[in-house]
Amino acid sequence: MFEPASYESNLLARASLDQCVKCTICETQCPVLAVTPLFSGPKFVGPQAERYRHGLVVDHSLDYCSSCGTCTLVCPQGVKIAELNSVARAAMKKGHTPLRDQIISRTSFMGKAMKPVAPLANAVLHNSAARWAMEKTLGIHRKAAMPTAHSHSFSDWWKKHTPPSAPTRGKVVYFHGCAGEFFEVETSIMTVEVLEHLGFEVITPTQGCCGLPMQSNGLFDAARKHVRTLADQLGVEPDAPIVASASSCVTMLKHEAHDIMGVDDESLIKVGSRIREVSEFLLDLADHDDLPLDFSPIEMTAPYHAPCQLKGQGMGRPAVELLKLIPGLTVVDAEATCCGIAGTYGVKKEKYDIGQAVGRPLFDKVREINPDFAICDTETCRWQIATATGATVVHPIWFLHKAYGLG
Ligand code: SF4
Ligand code: SF4
Repeated sequence: MFEPASYESNLLARASLDQCVKCTICETQCPVLAVTPLFSGPKFVGPQAERYRHGLVVDHSLDYCSSCGTCTLVCPQGVKIAELNSVARAAMKKGHTPLRDQIISRTSFMGKAMKPVAPLANAVLHNSAARWAMEKTLGIHRKAAMPTAHSHSFSDWWKKHTPPSAPTRGKVVYFHGCAGEFFEVETSIMTVEVLEHLGFEVITPTQGCCGLPMQSNGLFDAARKHVRTLADQLGVEPDAPIVASASSCVTMLKHEAHDIMGVDDESLIKVGSRIREVSEFLLDLADHDDLPLDFSPIEMTAPYHAPCQLKGQGMGRPAVELLKLIPGLTVVDAEATCCGIAGTYGVKKEKYDIGQAVGRPLFDKVREINPDFAICDTETCRWQIATATGATVVHPIWFLHKAYGLG
């Protein structure tokens, strides 16, 4: 039986469901429905089922929704379909979340655990026998994209880092996210170096996970606790902008914690209104003639993929606009719906093939435009694209860092 354990946090999304006019646009755009008959589709499991969910048997195909958010983005009536689905799925799985989902939603825990044994952890993650065992015991698909463990975290680097002695601009608070702390340390370092090159005083408070992986795995209580703690940590400089290199985590702070889990703490609302993805922040400087354009040319054509959660922020494609300013660089928007990873969705044994089918049009585009090099704002999407295509996939800040001669 369906237990509406998260009913209170669902009020906002529920308020939108009567706007549904059954146009089926969400059905035509849902990348999961397009590739599998196992999922009943956003309209059916969303506004249609929500009316009858209370106390009734739920459609378990809901578990195949990847939470990509495309349906909410395209709905002309403003129905919060993805949010309805996330709350309903959390209620459906409450009390019996698989061990696998408990583990893969703790990015910081995994990063901390792997750090002291990084070479061994990387050897295990690339060993076919070990991956077979992981698939059999935990349900993590043997071919799924995995992060690379590092022996040194971003915080290790930051402790030894000497910032410029006389910053010429104000302060910015930097949010690197868990992956930027443990798995994509270079992206975090490059972001700080670009901001400092531009004259900012960069503040990096101690910071934990935003809770997004927990939320998408239905662990709302843990996710609420994490996002509240993070909001307090990032609120350290009340007047400074908060700049992030983890675009999906920005979505959590901007609206998902509120819209899906009902978190309405003042500290979260304030942080959510101040936080900017780094490309958005730098493009804003450029729009105000406040970004130095003394870039060295980079002769390259590269495909760009906008992650679903960046699209959900409704700010266009700031990375594409920003990178156009670098001479010689041609960035081609792949215009794909989703790469298929959707956080942790595409690593799960029973969903891996669906994730690969969802991502296939993007993988084909990458191979067509530049099989060796691609651009994407979010870590897990980068790992997915790199594993599927063999291309090197970087955050947009990589180009700024290089074009400013910092690399
Ligand atoms: S796109 Fe919106 S209005 Fe159309 S069927 Fe889906 S939920 Fe209903
Ligand atoms: S969130 Fe994505 S996968 Fe889920 S119903 Fe909406 S479009 Fe489909």
